[in-house]
Amino acid sequence: MTLEEAQALDAADPLRHARDRFRLPDGTIYLDGNSLGALPAATPARLVQTVEHQWGEDLIASWTRHGWIDAPRRVAAKLAPLLGADVDELLIAESTSVCLFKLLAAAVQAQPGRSTILSQEGNFPTDLYVAQGLTELLPHIRLRTVPAGEIESAIDEDTAVVMLTQVDYRSAARLDLASINAAARARGTLTLWDLSHSAGAIEIDLKRDGCDLAVGCGYKYLNGGPGAPAFLFAAGHLQGRLRSPLPGWMAHAEPFAFEPAFRPAEGIAQFLTGTPSILAIAALEAGLDSFAGIPMSAIEAKAAALSQRFIEEVEARCGSEVQLASPREPSRRGSHVSFAHPAGYAVIQALIERGVVGDFRAPDLMRFGFAPLYNGFVDVLRAAETMAEILRDGSWDQPRFRERSRVT
Ligand SMILES: *Cc1c(COP(=O)(O)O)cnc(C)c1O
Repeated sequence: MTLEEAQALDAADPLRHARDRFRLPDGTIYLDGNSLGALPAATPARLVQTVEHQWGEDLIASWTRHGWIDAPRRVAAKLAPLLGADVDELLIAESTSVCLFKLLAAAVQAQPGRSTILSQEGNFPTDLYVAQGLTELLPHIRLRTVPAGEIESAIDEDTAVVMLTQVDYRSAARLDLASINAAARARGTLTLWDLSHSAGAIEIDLKRDGCDLAVGCGYKYLNGGPGAPAFLFAAGHLQGRLRSPLPGWMAHAEPFAFEPAFRPAEGIAQFLTGTPSILAIAALEAGLDSFAGIPMSAIEAKAAALSQRFIEEVEARCGSEVQLASPREPSRRGSHVSFAHPAGYAVIQALIERGVVGDFRAPDLMRFGFAPLYNGFVDVLRAAETMAEILRDGSWDQPRFRERSRVT
């Protein structure tokens, strides 16, 4: 692909106007939106408004006057169309890890007589740690992990819940929601999906595909800002069977009755815990507003086109120096691409110094995320060219590029 061809693809891109909804530093090609989404242009003013006008002037009256008390539900409603969920099946809350704990514990408790949490080997560490923590709390429960290809056959009468991540954070390999959900349902097993690397990047239809439970991250493709609140989903038909393991006062049927005994709110609100972080939710809302008017089908189509072009351009220029570590078929991937290189960490640092921001995942993966709202084909071309240059001239091979920082 030549620069002219890349520019022509950008000019013909139906999502090209969405780039203006973000602020990115000049000269930076940002391919790490799968780790921390870019800053939406509307976020600074939204935060100033929330802090200065709402908090600063209306003080505590803002809980009612500005609808703070409903923020976890109201902002969840903006997320619902991105996930194919009903508004009363979704909640904004805490972090992915905490939401996962709440739903995993609820799923296990809803399945008396079953003792296995089934997951995938190499699942995202926090997911496995949360499950391990739960097995220490509930000694009759065990965690079993199997390779991706064995998940469906490993579901049996003892499996309480299958806990999986839809898009693998390293390889971007995508699991088939509908097929795994059907296999689980046939054996009376619940499914709990982590959508952290898929929400906002690919088309998801939780309802159509029969998902029981799900969680996901607010600060990746949803652009909610560092440490943004996460989301949790519980299918409507299941909600009556579930009990939250962390029923704080916000989950009470009448929080301001201040009753000594817990009475759960109806529906999804029972999964609230404490007071929501209003400033963080305001930033997440601005992140979700950057999707306004854009169907997820268009976002997924662009994600596939960008990532496919990137694979082609890198392979054409770098040959066998790098190995594709992601599925080649776009429908089997999320919106990031990983290439393996023995000095991957140093190569990524050298790329960052030249303005191409990807990241590194141990042991040897260079990871590049394509956020369809703000990345384009010129970004793809420049990133591939810069990687080829760095590998050709060996400029990555310097001690300063090998020094590991705490966050990779
Ligand atoms: C990013 C990510 C998380 C993050 O969890 P936090 O609680 O927000 O730190 C969890 N699971 C997966 C699969 C992720 O990719």
